[in-house]
Amino acid sequence: MPGGMDLRSKRVLVVGLARTGVATSIFCAARGARVTATDSRGETEIGEAVAKLKEAGVTLELGSHREKTFLEQDLIVPSPGVPADQAHLQAARVKGITIWSEIELAYRFIRGRLIGITGSNGKTTTTSLAAHILKTAGMHTILAGNIGTPLIGCVDEMKDDTSTVAELSSFQLELIDTFRPNIGVFLNLTPDHLDRHHTMEAYARAKARLFENQTGEDAAVLNADDAATTVHAPSLPRLYWFSRKQRVAQGAYVRREEIVFRQDGREETLLKLEDMPLAGAHNVENVLAAAAAARLAGAPAAAIAKGVRSFAGVEHRLEFVAEIAGVRYYNDSKATNVDATRIALDAFPGRILIILGGRDKGSDYTVLQKPLREKAILALLIGAAAEKIENQISGSVALERAETLERAVETASHAARRGDVVLLAPACASFDQFQNYEHRGRVFKDLVGQLEKQSAGATSGKG
Ligand code: ADP
Repeated sequence: MPGGMDLRSKRVLVVGLARTGVATSIFCAARGARVTATDSRGETEIGEAVAKLKEAGVTLELGSHREKTFLEQDLIVPSPGVPADQAHLQAARVKGITIWSEIELAYRFIRGRLIGITGSNGKTTTTSLAAHILKTAGMHTILAGNIGTPLIGCVDEMKDDTSTVAELSSFQLELIDTFRPNIGVFLNLTPDHLDRHHTMEAYARAKARLFENQTGEDAAVLNADDAATTVHAPSLPRLYWFSRKQRVAQGAYVRREEIVFRQDGREETLLKLEDMPLAGAHNVENVLAAAAAARLAGAPAAAIAKGVRSFAGVEHRLEFVAEIAGVRYYNDSKATNVDATRIALDAFPGRILIILGGRDKGSDYTVLQKPLREKAILALLIGAAAEKIENQISGSVALERAETLERAVETASHAARRGDVVLLAPACASFDQFQNYEHRGRVFKDLVGQLEKQSAGATSGKG
């Protein structure tokens, strides 16, 4: 455990005032630092956090960033949304000013065991599941990251016997120095965020920093089925693997429809695949990774099985919403690119009515032709990208331009037969018709909820 650091009278600049930046500013101010926080947005756009920051004694520089301010600091903590090569940060770097991500700063104050999970896809699901298993095992557990509190906001809750499970992005790992998880999990690597990291090599390097400071006392867990991650296997920590396809020397794998954990030549069965409530092969990988991490953190096999069975999944990720008249409705609003949509289609045996569309991100929808032909019976197109999608997938599946989510759900409910699946996995961003993917997912669930009520009303009316 690192044992903290003295922030008193240190000049700290926090760049970007979303959740992480606000938590970092307040954390540093509470420890006696002289904190300035800057954001290119103005006071009204930032909203209620402004009053909290002022009350904590944070100096605010809003509306733009000033290079002079960057050059007068002892420490700069950019938020994950700020590019590491931003001009003022570069100038500060040249001057020798320390630049850390929030997880590096938080790490200095951490107590207990730290489990860090990264990868291109599945981070939130795996992190949530691992934390749920540890809680099921009766361990004092903290979930930190995207859907929880930023790591720095969790520090005060930690005790020596706490296990903290943290979701880590490449942007956070890019700016670490001593950060070292006791258990590091690297799920997979596919092209993503190339607008920020520029090359695939730079993106992979940032993610692989997860293992950089680990020692022989720590454990590294990697995906044996993903060649892009296996090349980053570190040499110092104890190596564990997870695999859907092959037996592994150490770690978790699938043997005859069962998840098995193997360590030092001994194997124990954790659970049957059929006991997994989450659909899809990708979720088998997430379960393997979470189970391996939880086992290494000390959770017994029985608690892992119980935890996986009782895990309800994460909202908006292939989330089961309802079954109405034998038709199952799933919300995968987080599927904002074609790859996620392909994976969602893959998770069901067939007869899918899929809702596609939203704001296009320059995607190539032709890659959906094959899975649509094989798995879908109807595609309902919504939003600004509808025309492009129609042009690129026509001929592979029956199409209908529904325009709005409301009409898409209504049309799907009429067209679906018992045993079918209605799936929102739009392959697009949501900003043309919604605030964000969460908002889109909630609207979908509300619409399904209304259908459910109508259906219940119709049934009781008959009876
Ligand atoms: P992240 O936090 O990395 O974005 P999530 O758990 O939020 O990952 O899942 C986001 C989407 O990525 C899901 O809707 C699903 O389509 C896809 N996904 C989840 N897990 C995996 C995985 N192990 N491999 C590939 N794709 C995945």
